[in-house]
Amino acid sequence: MKALQLLAHGTPGTFDLRDLPDPQPSDGEVVVAVRACGLNHLDLWVEQAGLPIEIKLPLTPGCEIAGEVLRLGPGVTGWKSGDRVAVQSNLFCGACEYCRRGQESMCLNNVMLGVQRDGGFAEQVAVPARALVRLPDNVDFNTSAALTLAGSTAMHMLTTRTTVRPGAWVLVIAGASGVGSAAIQIARGLGARVISTGSTAEKRDLAQRLGAEAVLDLAAPGWTAEVRKITGKHGVDLAVEHVGGAVLKSVFNCLSRDGTVVTCGATGGRETTLDLWPFFVKQQRLIGSYGRDAADLKATLDWAAQGRLKPVIDRAVPLAEAPRALARLRSRQVLGKIVVLPT
Ligand SMILES: [Zn+2]
Repeated sequence: MKALQLLAHGTPGTFDLRDLPDPQPSDGEVVVAVRACGLNHLDLWVEQAGLPIEIKLPLTPGCEIAGEVLRLGPGVTGWKSGDRVAVQSNLFCGACEYCRRGQESMCLNNVMLGVQRDGGFAEQVAVPARALVRLPDNVDFNTSAALTLAGSTAMHMLTTRTTVRPGAWVLVIAGASGVGSAAIQIARGLGARVISTGSTAEKRDLAQRLGAEAVLDLAAPGWTAEVRKITGKHGVDLAVEHVGGAVLKSVFNCLSRDGTVVTCGATGGRETTLDLWPFFVKQQRLIGSYGRDAADLKATLDWAAQGRLKPVIDRAVPLAEAPRALARLRSRQVLGKIVVLPT
């Protein structure tokens, strides 16, 4: 089978499109014929060794996989060849205290697909059967590959780690990003009023089309005052944040009393400071969110099947073009998701 392998880290890294032996499923695993795999910021971190995790090379990256079951390993039940599936990228053990109560995102033995073992930039990939989620009939492979990772991350933030009251004000940072575009749609679907941000006119326009009633530029001075004005001085009840650094700090300036910031990323900086006086006087919350539980991924696909959650797809590219697509993602020229096809 063909696989795009990362041979050396760098910006850009060194990739090679190789012919490799077909993967064989171990106990409890299946081999999935990859039909589409989404491109994510996580792939950039893998490429440039930007994760606090040891990565063994060569590696086949790719963490947002949609495809069809091809071969079953020993002990696998409930699946057959040809079943259409999405694959949960945080491979959970199914046995630790968190997995046993359905909190797979907190698994003590988590393995990241496409980071710590070979992923979906290939024609085939072996994964544990417990990581499979059945694709609803009317959700196609590209939709799944463009939605399941970022979309389920947003679903976890908005429905599992926090809740959204109908009529609440929700601020979604970077509304044209994968997480942001899903978060706008989910917040709207839950009855919230949404304010978002975007760094270009195109991105702000997209966030508006997805349902944000106001979209601001984080580079504009006084944007947090603008949020307070739009919300009639109330501030936002919930802020969905995934940039970190100075952005996370500034988000607190537009947060209401009893408001919550939920954050799942730090692409703009891992460290920040927080003025604790307004934080406790206004009785606010800062909540971390990581990955997704199996239930979040199922909910994401159900929303997609119902037409309530639609991915924004920038383009689909063949495997050989994936390194160039990563460069586009790094340069922030992408509007929505890039999907890699194993052709
Ligand atoms: Zn576990």
